Amino acid sequence: MRENAWSACSQQQIKKIGLFSEEYKSFLSQCKTERECIKYFSALLEENGFISLNKLLQNKTPLKAGDKVYTINMNKALVAFVVGKEDLQKGLNILCAHIDSPRLDLKSNPLYEEDGFCMFDTHYYGGIKHYHWVALPLALHGLICKEDGTKIDICLGEKDSDPVFGVTDLLPHLTEKEKGFDKLLSKQEEIAGEVLNLIIGSKLKEGSAKSKILDILKDKGIDEKDFYSSEIEVVPAGKARDFGLDESMIIGYGHDDRSCAYCCVKALIDAKNIQRTSAVILVDKEETGSPGATGMKSRFFENMVAEIMNLMGEYKELHFKRVLNKSQVISCDVTAGFDPNWTEPYNKNTEAFLNGGVAFSKYTGSGGKSDANDANPEFIARLRKILDENKIVYQFTEMGKVDKGGGGTISSILAEYGMEVIDAGVPVLSMHAPWEVVSKLDLFENYRFYKAFVETNKF
Ligand code: MN
Ligand code: MN
Repeated sequence: MRENAWSACSQQQIKKIGLFSEEYKSFLSQCKTERECIKYFSALLEENGFISLNKLLQNKTPLKAGDKVYTINMNKALVAFVVGKEDLQKGLNILCAHIDSPRLDLKSNPLYEEDGFCMFDTHYYGGIKHYHWVALPLALHGLICKEDGTKIDICLGEKDSDPVFGVTDLLPHLTEKEKGFDKLLSKQEEIAGEVLNLIIGSKLKEGSAKSKILDILKDKGIDEKDFYSSEIEVVPAGKARDFGLDESMIIGYGHDDRSCAYCCVKALIDAKNIQRTSAVILVDKEETGSPGATGMKSRFFENMVAEIMNLMGEYKELHFKRVLNKSQVISCDVTAGFDPNWTEPYNKNTEAFLNGGVAFSKYTGSGGKSDANDANPEFIARLRKILDENKIVYQFTEMGKVDKGGGGTISSILAEYGMEVIDAGVPVLSMHAPWEVVSKLDLFENYRFYKAFVETNKF
């Protein structure tokens, strides 16, 4: 077991951890989609002196040391920079996190009627356990785009006065093996993705529940065909809350990876005396392998680096390649925390524990380190120095026993530029479940590490 770092905390540190956690809980409760995160972070960056890159490009304003800029990509990804005093060609300090989380998405043709109920058909997103998503209150977040260019924002199920939605479950009386319902039990054990249908109404209009719902939607300016041009995410309804009698943890939806995304943005805003130009990248689609224009595999980040160099009067292809090649990256992502209820897949000696601080994964991947970015010891040694100088609590981890687990992050995509990259983030319990759990102490140490990383010029 790792040392539990709470015992070494002063009253002042505990107070700081508490304040940081309160703000984080408020963020996590408000931001349950990529778009909501981008809206929140853009506003936070603007409040703290960051200027939209588009504005600078329009006015051809040159950039200089100390300037802070940000730019968003299709409202679902973001890059923010603080221009440092050092030569850009020495490379950037980069923090990168994802802001998409596992969930159910509405299909393009979601509305249908079944046995007197009106239903929404869903298609799950990311790695979920299907049985987690039944019998709990769910909310709808997203938007509908109309042909005339107007957008209807949707956030239903969060206010006390809002209705919620849900996928119902079969009662135990009809699923017990001894009562001869074996077939139903096996269906339940592996609840099929296609079964995850949301009940949204049961009132009839002229014998039809769907007609009644269509009427309600019409009042809100929505036609059935508008779902073709919609992006509606089904997420757990409710706020992030303290977890445990000692209030040492937080339960909430989307700690993976919004805990790291939040720490990244706060670190860049709070960092003092930045020497090396620093960047925060927030991306979408990590949970589905980082594809698409808003995922890490898109060229958005490198295009924006080129724009920054151009505004500094330094853009040349060779210089641009050097900047990317010389950069150092923290792939900010959560990892599995050791779970006292489910010890079997873990190796206690090599796993991350809650309250053990920032969790570093030298490599991710699975099997024989397949598809892993394996961080260099030279890089890790420099990071250890930063950690020790700032008295940051940290631990090194694997994800499960050898050949029992594994997973990927965006680290290997950034490593393709020839950058030094390592994964570091917060250990999580119930990762990828509708409600995940993190430690407040780990969250704060994670923020402190990211801040110390962007402040360093030791590379
Ligand atoms: Mn993640
Ligand atoms: Mn994940």
